[in-house]
Amino acid sequence: AKEKGGNRVTFFDTSFGEQAKRRFEIEQDLRKAISNNELSLYLQSQFDRSQTLKGAEVLLRWEHPQKGFISPGEFISIAEESDIIYDLDCWVTSNALEILTQLSKTHPKLNLSINVSGRHFHEARFLSFISQQIKQHSINPQQLTIEIIEGTLLNHMEAAIEAVHFLKKLGIRVSIDDFGTGYSSLTYLKQLPIQELKIDRSFVLEAPTDNNDKLIIDMIVSLGRLFELEIVAEGVENQSHFDLLQEYPEVILQGYYLHRPEPASDWLEKLN
Ligand code: C2E
Ligand code: CA
Ligand code: CA
Ligand code: CA
Repeated sequence: AKEKGGNRVTFFDTSFGEQAKRRFEIEQDLRKAISNNELSLYLQSQFDRSQTLKGAEVLLRWEHPQKGFISPGEFISIAEESDIIYDLDCWVTSNALEILTQLSKTHPKLNLSINVSGRHFHEARFLSFISQQIKQHSINPQQLTIEIIEGTLLNHMEAAIEAVHFLKKLGIRVSIDDFGTGYSSLTYLKQLPIQELKIDRSFVLEAPTDNNDKLIIDMIVSLGRLFELEIVAEGVENQSHFDLLQEYPEVILQGYYLHRPEPASDWLEKLN
């Protein structure tokens, strides 16, 4: 038993060391990813329940020269531990606005949603960056939505309230991403002039078989109705998710069942 335990310790030591090494390498390489042109933007369509296209979420992709594609699920959290995240989000914002400039010429009703880290979305430098970007591009800011992860809002509640007001004045929509996974609080909904809630895919995933998850979706949709917010459900992976969500006529749908994220240029080409 002792030997087994010893092995286990060794196993964890090694994998911990490897994990730490990978994190370190990713952090180093991420600093060069922008200038090395390794980043790109993918789009994932969003639809209403009659499957009419409403817009798309912009998702960042990184093709590492040796490691291949690295998921944002892995590198965003690493970037958030340093200031790299700020450069990434600014890069995404200005490139997304280039896409929106093209899109708005032919499709003035479609929306683009970008993800911005809650770590800095309320900071003056980001707010002045985005207002400058809006001025530089001939776009209608109503076609842009900023998604912010719920949990990070509470950390700087006062600054967040101010920032959301500022973005609203610019005409930009604000969405709370992964709603229900953080410290859900009605305080948000009362104090933040947001336009949208996104139901996290973890609730959608089990909703067809787990009544608790179904009830959470019921609750989020009710909140949306009460506060007059648009609701987007992500992670619509299969027919049973799709069928279940038909119960809520106003909910916008996003997921592999309807569309897999694809390079922005391909997405734009198919539109025309
Ligand atoms: P998120 O904002 O919740 O984005 C949705 C994620 O779910 C995306 O993963 C998308 O590809 C994936 N997804 C979409 N439909 C389905 C489905 O039907 N089933 C399943 N299992 N997954 C689905 P992705 O692109 O790997 O992004 C992961 C996370 O990384 C995002 O989660 C977001 O929090 C973050 N992220 C992505 N791009 C950016 C960015 O430009 N800036 C920042 N700050 N964060 C980003
Ligand atoms: Ca998102
Ligand atoms: Ca989400
Ligand atoms: Ca999520």
